[in-house]
Formats: sequence, C-alpha cells, structure tokens
Amino acid sequence: MIRAAVLVLLAASSAAGQQAPPSNTASQSTFRWTGTLSQGGLILGAAPDGARTLTLNGKPIALSPDGRFIAGFDRDAGSQATLIAALADGRSVTQSLSIAPRAWRIERLNTLPKFPAPDPVFAKLRPPELAQIVAARARNTDAQGWRQSFAWPATGRISGLFGSQRVYKGEPGSYHSGTDIAIPTGTIVTAPADGVVILAADHPFTLEGNLLMLDHGMGLNSAFLHLSRIDVKLGDHVTKGQPIGASGMTGRATGPHLHWALRWNDAKLDPMLVAGAMRP
Ligand SMILES: [Zn+2]
Repeated sequence: MIRAAVLVLLAASSAAGQQAPPSNTASQSTFRWTGTLSQGGLILGAAPDGARTLTLNGKPIALSPDGRFIAGFDRDAGSQATLIAALADGRSVTQSLSIAPRAWRIERLNTLPKFPAPDPVFAKLRPPELAQIVAARARNTDAQGWRQSFAWPATGRISGLFGSQRVYKGEPGSYHSGTDIAIPTGTIVTAPADGVVILAADHPFTLEGNLLMLDHGMGLNSAFLHLSRIDVKLGDHVTKGQPIGASGMTGRATGPHLHWALRWNDAKLDPMLVAGAMRP
C-alpha cells in the first residue's frame, strides 16, 4: 500500500522535476526554474536579469550574487504562489505559480490518542532541546548544497511517508514531518548535498535522539534523527556523499530507522520530492 503510493508519487515527481537546470549564462527577462511545484516541493530557479531582490508571497527570499534562488512549498501550501523580482532599473517582474495539491496519507481512527502521563523529566529537558534546534536553524552559513541535486542519505525500505497523519475521532494529530527509511542500526548515513553542521547533539534528545542538522544554504536545511553515532562536529563543512554518522533508534523510535527531514525557512518539504527516485 505504502510502496504503491511511493511509486506513483516518484513517477509524478520525476516527470515534473527532471527539466534541464536553469542556465545563468543566457540573458533572460523572466523567471526560470527546475523542480517540483507542489505541496512539499522545492524549486531551483534563475531570476530575471537585473534582479536585486526577490519576494515569495510578499516575503523576501534569498537571491545569490549569480541570480539563483530556491523556493520551497510547505506541506499545507496554498494552490497559488507569487514570485516578484525587483530589478535594478526600478521595474519588477511577477511570476504566478500553481502549486499542485497532494493526497496525503490520512489514517482515521475511532480511538483517542494515548497521551502519555505528564512527565516532569520531559517537561524539564524539552525546552533547552527546542532552543538548540531553533538556534541551529537561525545559523546562516556559506553552504552551497542548495545548488546541487540531492541524494538519499541512506537507502532502504521507506517505512514512513512525509505528510502522513492520524486523525483520532475527528481530531487531527500532528503530521509526519520527514521520510523514514528502515535500516539496521549502524548503517552509514551520508550527506545528501554539501552542507555545514549546524547541530550535532552531544547527548540523545528526548524525541529526536542523536540529532544531526546540516545547513545547505539559502534557508534550506536537513535533520537526521535517531542516529546511533554522529561522526562530524558543529561547524564542519561536509560534501555530498560524505559519511556523517550511523543510523539507530535513539530518542522516540519503535525500531531502527533514519528519519530525514528537510526545511526551507518555515516550509516543511518532502524529501522524496527533493531527492527523487531511490537507487539502492
Ligand atoms: Zn519519522
């Protein structure tokens, strides 16, 4: 059931995502991009010549000196988005984007969630963990991985889909914010693209376990959860394909797997759309 959904989704994403990368040599008066214009998707684009600043839905987004940018679309993004480039000569270029909706895997249960009893240890440990995660996401680095095609950090059976959600007697629970890959403890995890280490937990977090986060630049970052081991340290520059740690089941996990989450600014992205078809 899950595997069939994955295949359909990958077929759709490769059809939409495998265009030629935008050229930054030829002159252009409009936006160009490659990638997936759908909920959970990411595009790599080239802005019109002379662009000085960019906005997406009215919010400023980063523009590199060579006129490139990325834009991501949250799991719950609306069906329309607007890119505007302000040009050096005072003109502006507006591009409307249609964001395809996704059919998320929703499981409706006729039971209530099992809320754990209030746990004073969790209540004490959690705020500093969240503060570390927020601080990590606020770090800006010179990472250039955002320009690359992303690779899977590990390959194996997909055991949890991004965006899936349980609804308990009509009350939605929070959705799954990454892709789970079921792999044995100790499997090497590699960097999906070039990056800079923005968080390397020195102890297992209550939920994430041994958490490693990489910045890929331009507001795009990866998180790798439940690791048995982290082999890099804060501030390290890593290259695509470089081993960064090993999988495990630390934190809240019912079995060994890698949970890989991707975010662009506040938008939660689907790693399956960004990394494409998995080639073991
Ligand atoms: Zn997960």
